[in-house]
Amino acid sequence: LAKQAGKDRYQLFDIQLETEIRRKQQALKAISTGLQQGEFELHYQPKINMQTLAFEGAEALIRWQHPQSGLLYPGAFLPVTEGHQVELELGEWVLHSALAQMQQWRLQGFYCPLSINIAAQQIQRSEFADQLAAALQAYPQVNPQQLQLEILETSALEDMELVTDTLLRCRALGVSLALDDFGTGYSSLAYLKRLPIDCLKIDQGFVREMLADADDLSIIQGVLGLAHAFDLHVIAEGVETPAHCRQLLTLGCRYGQGYGIARPMPASALPDWVSKTLPGLHF
Ligand code: C2E
Ligand code: MG
Ligand code: MG
Ligand code: MG
Repeated sequence: LAKQAGKDRYQLFDIQLETEIRRKQQALKAISTGLQQGEFELHYQPKINMQTLAFEGAEALIRWQHPQSGLLYPGAFLPVTEGHQVELELGEWVLHSALAQMQQWRLQGFYCPLSINIAAQQIQRSEFADQLAAALQAYPQVNPQQLQLEILETSALEDMELVTDTLLRCRALGVSLALDDFGTGYSSLAYLKRLPIDCLKIDQGFVREMLADADDLSIIQGVLGLAHAFDLHVIAEGVETPAHCRQLLTLGCRYGQGYGIARPMPASALPDWVSKTLPGLHF
């Protein structure tokens, strides 16, 4: 009897595993189809100088206008793509869409530096720099110096030599590099030392807790000190309230991004936000 029960249990595991694998394959297929159908779009979240209210640019964030489920955020569909072909396809699409948007804005007289998020898989491939070069060539009016690549600091970069080489080649094209969610990875300092980075983005978790938790405040001070020592630009993410803004300014962190400044918005809304809403902000 016990033997039979054990067998049944194994069978149940098999069925669950099979279902899970099939569901994952279906999700990947759906994303790939959605991409072909033009269901993805980029939203843009402003970055500003909190002291002068100067507009510094925006971060492009991917969204999926799902025909049945409505607007989906990356947390709902990116994790399943990790390491798969469709993650690379999405990455290519994001790069081209961001450059196309910059070019279109430029023709309208709106100059907007953009940053895009790059998956670990992308920069772990030597052809990434060639793809970037080809994309930049396809949008000749865009100044590569207005494009920044955000690399997730938490992503395990396996072949550091290859990644460093790829990033150096990207940088030689004129683009700049930021470490995203800085402070949440375990090898922050090693990355700082080895990767050719221009900017640190302080993770929103530290900013959120900073007013209540002295440790988070110390971490932010530490990051600012590191940035100074390595001659890097710093921007705080997750600036949700005027109090966050004021505290960051007191600490000497001038650049910020967060719901307290603006939520990510469709491309069509950004020029007006910059000319009409931004000048009226006060912290
Ligand atoms: P991230 O690059 O760290 O982007 C910041 C995320 O925090 C965005 O979420 C943004 O909407 C959200 N956020 C901004 N300000 C605040 C704030 O004040 N409070 C709070 N609670 N959240 C804030 P989103 O758009 O859902 O993106 C989540 C993550 O998905 C991104 O984190 C990034 O790692 C990834 N991602 C987004 N777009 C892309 C993309 O095109 N390619 C890749 N590979 N990853 C992307
Ligand atoms: Mg980012
Ligand atoms: Mg981040
Ligand atoms: Mg994040």
